[in-house]
Amino acid sequence: MGDLVCRSCRTTYPFDDPRWKCDCGSLLDIRFRAAFDRDRIRERRPTMWRYRDALPIYDEQHIVSFNEGFTPLVEARIHGKPVWLKQEHLFPTGSYKDRGASVLVSRAAELGVSRMVEDSSGNAGAAIAAYAARASIPCDIYVPESTSPAKLVQIRMYGAHLHQVPGSREDTAHAALQAAGQHFYASHVWNPFFFQGTKTFAFEVWEQLGFVVPDTVLIPTGNGTLLIGAYLGFMDLKLAGLIARLPRLIAVQSENCAPLHRMWSEELEDLPSIQTSDTVAEGIAIAEPMRANQIVDIVRETEGTVVTVSDQEIETALVDACRQGWYVEPTSASALAAIKQYPQSAGETIVVPLTGHGLKSTEKLLKLAEH
Ligand SMILES: [Zn+2]
Repeated sequence: MGDLVCRSCRTTYPFDDPRWKCDCGSLLDIRFRAAFDRDRIRERRPTMWRYRDALPIYDEQHIVSFNEGFTPLVEARIHGKPVWLKQEHLFPTGSYKDRGASVLVSRAAELGVSRMVEDSSGNAGAAIAAYAARASIPCDIYVPESTSPAKLVQIRMYGAHLHQVPGSREDTAHAALQAAGQHFYASHVWNPFFFQGTKTFAFEVWEQLGFVVPDTVLIPTGNGTLLIGAYLGFMDLKLAGLIARLPRLIAVQSENCAPLHRMWSEELEDLPSIQTSDTVAEGIAIAEPMRANQIVDIVRETEGTVVTVSDQEIETALVDACRQGWYVEPTSASALAAIKQYPQSAGETIVVPLTGHGLKSTEKLLKLAEH
């Protein structure tokens, strides 16, 4: 079906190897040729699995799915500008992370793993926990001890084993990595199969625009799970000869936690160590994104850019979105806020994903409602 390739030393491993990193310690990519047949795609159900021939799972019976995806793409005006909003908050667990979880947990089922491990306190943890429940695979989710109980309810209700780790986010990752020595590491950052799921975002946008690629996509970016996925998806389409160019991919960060913006604007080779402060956009508050170089390379290759927005701009954009009927979490509103400063040209097609549901952020939204 393909093989696994190290991003750093280029060592390759057989496709059936359950590993999630190279022996040298670096990240792995999947080398796999996606196929598309427009007639067959159109005949299939409106789910992300209609692009079945572009997804690296061998056997239909191993697919773990809630018939998710093919989320509606609707026209809207944001800050007076015409954009297409992709309603990724309408997934079963309330975020686009279900794309990655569906493919990654299908991979786990195909490998016959008996237990999975993931570290996250947010949407990725909830997505992995839900799909693990669907597949009847026990899973352990590691979270920082400081995580608010409200965020853990969803993960707990899916029946995942929750491990609260004292110390920092890095201490939590370390604990999960130790556990991952014995079990399958279902990481939304490390495991390349997660990105094979998030890439379906690109396929759907292409089909929903009439098999045409948009000019620009603005994406809230912390670990880059959706930005990297979108890139891989558009690249699959380009390699298949179905599109001539890639859209401009614009990474949006919170100015309170913007390591990628610093790396981009100062043209740094390596991720800088930065000062951070709290932000309402908690889903992209990642001080040390593992795939920083990959993200910056993608932005450069697609002639995109990295921009920042303030918490105040995010809150204003969030209220505006809610007043138009979109109830999304603050992280999603970061990309809507970035529309304001974006110099849209005449006729430029812009797509913005609404990444997560507002019902996940009731505490934060309550403060805005009472303001
Ligand atoms: Zn390597």
